Amino acid sequence: MQSSPSPNTLRTLIEPFIHQHGGWVNAHAHADRAFTLDAHMLEIYCTQTLERKWDAIDAMKRNSSVEDYYGRFCQTIELMITQGVTAMCSFVDIDPAAGDRAIRGALRARELYRDDITVLYANQTLKGVIAPDAREWFDRGAEMVDIIGALPKRDERDFGRGDEALDIVLGVAKAMNKMVHAHVDQFNDPHEHETEQLCNKTVEHGMQGRVVAIHGISIAAHAKQYRVRLYEKMRDSGVMTIACPMAWIDTPRSEFIGPAHNALTPIDEMIPAGVTVAIGTDNISDAMVPFCEGDMWRELSLLAAGCRYTDFDELVRIATDNGRRALGLPLLNVPNIAKENIHGNAAVL
Ligand SMILES: [Zn+2]
Repeated sequence: MQSSPSPNTLRTLIEPFIHQHGGWVNAHAHADRAFTLDAHMLEIYCTQTLERKWDAIDAMKRNSSVEDYYGRFCQTIELMITQGVTAMCSFVDIDPAAGDRAIRGALRARELYRDDITVLYANQTLKGVIAPDAREWFDRGAEMVDIIGALPKRDERDFGRGDEALDIVLGVAKAMNKMVHAHVDQFNDPHEHETEQLCNKTVEHGMQGRVVAIHGISIAAHAKQYRVRLYEKMRDSGVMTIACPMAWIDTPRSEFIGPAHNALTPIDEMIPAGVTVAIGTDNISDAMVPFCEGDMWRELSLLAAGCRYTDFDELVRIATDNGRRALGLPLLNVPNIAKENIHGNAAVL
């Protein structure tokens, strides 16, 4: 019996170009909490707001050994390798609840796969950087990672000191000559202006081209005039962005009045405005994002469909080159994607 040809889908059309172009780059994950779903974790997802989850998962973190963390990193890295991911960055909780156990497990796992994939780490600051014990762990973590991580909302919520948190993070990163990846504008809320705040702070600290905004969901909740000005600011300050579509598509319904949009990073506007966009899975099957299974194609297709974004060559760049840019990795010596390639391929099909 003859085997039937593979079905004609956008995936079969686009993904070969991603592999030819050096492979997928998963620019943002939290592998230390991956695959931790159980009844308790699902209960947290079903009943707690994101901000409350920052602390609700403490017991899981406290009860996790270096061996547990090592296992989760190995599982995540292997899942990436099987999809053809060639570089990835995972945040790692290095804080009073996780101590240094997660990063110790992470470093061991990276060593095991060093010939198969480039793995970078950033320190998650789930407890902020203002509280003295959180700051102590931030400083210890900063030494152990490749990229300095940030969550300014934590210190804004707890102390009204989000600006100061960014000053600390950017100051430490500059002194250590490391990039910054900051979680900003997560809540699809027009009252958030964190991407703009990050751009301003980037310029203030002379960190242009070294800072990446993760998520930027709230941007699309703002008026068009604001969005256009923000994209210019991002481009001029060299602030890149990482979209993690599965992580926010479950944003709860709200009664905010604003432009109609999906809870996604607005790449259909950002890319034409000259902003560099990469893609990541964010949390994989944990209390924060139980629906994410770490599937790179699913992330890309959700992003493209949800933004109705139809420049397929750019989608390949989001999945490859732009991820390397966001991680500060050199671009691979692979042929450029010819504009007509994917569309030409479609015409053949
Ligand atoms: Zn994240």
